[in-house]
Amino acid sequence: MIFDFYFLYWISGIILIPGMILAIFAQIKVSSAYKKYSKTSAKSGWIAREMSEMLLERAGAGGVRVYKTGGSLTDYYNPSDKTLHLSETVHDSSSIAALAVSAHEVGHAIQDNEHYAPLKFRKVIVPIVNLGSRLAIPLAIIGLILTFFEGFGEFGEFILFIGIIAYSLTFVFALITLPVEINASNRAKRLLLQTNVLDEKEIRGASKVLSAAAWTYVASMIISLLYLLRFILVISSLRRRD
Ligand SMILES: [Zn+2]
Repeated sequence: MIFDFYFLYWISGIILIPGMILAIFAQIKVSSAYKKYSKTSAKSGWIAREMSEMLLERAGAGGVRVYKTGGSLTDYYNPSDKTLHLSETVHDSSSIAALAVSAHEVGHAIQDNEHYAPLKFRKVIVPIVNLGSRLAIPLAIIGLILTFFEGFGEFGEFILFIGIIAYSLTFVFALITLPVEINASNRAKRLLLQTNVLDEKEIRGASKVLSAAAWTYVASMIISLLYLLRFILVISSLRRRD
């Protein structure tokens, strides 16, 4: 049973391929948009770090500290200690791409400051998602074995159901990530225009960078959906049917 489970699980990985292709496509789109717009400086002359601090201050989130972090496209906002991390290539740059990326991270900081519901929900479910992803496969195997024992069939089915719920949490997490990301990008575009950091024409470049980044989240969401479908497929083909 355990062997069958892992064999089928491995072989059915084939259904993940379209999602992987989409993820690669999204990654290429991000890199090329970023590369293109990192060559053009904004006419306003703002540098990403100073601009981020200005936007945070303006939104009443002046308590957020901004740091420089290693790597490229590694920018993130950490809600647990209210710190904003800008990558080396973004931090001191005044390119349209750098300003777009840092304004997006400022968008997350403002979401946090305003207690934006999807972000709060995402924060709350992280430990449950982690637990679920660790328990799903053991639950599936136990449930499948139980379905083959006389008198335990129904209990086995119940365990399988819990296993599927546990597995689906990763997909739920990816699904909530989408509105959080799109909202942060929309906030970024609005802030960049309102404060004249970018003009109408430059905003179009920023939009391209941000929407390319959004595709990577769409790809992760589709991949986790395919993972879930595979999980359900493997379970339903192995479980005992009377
Ligand atoms: Zn983001």
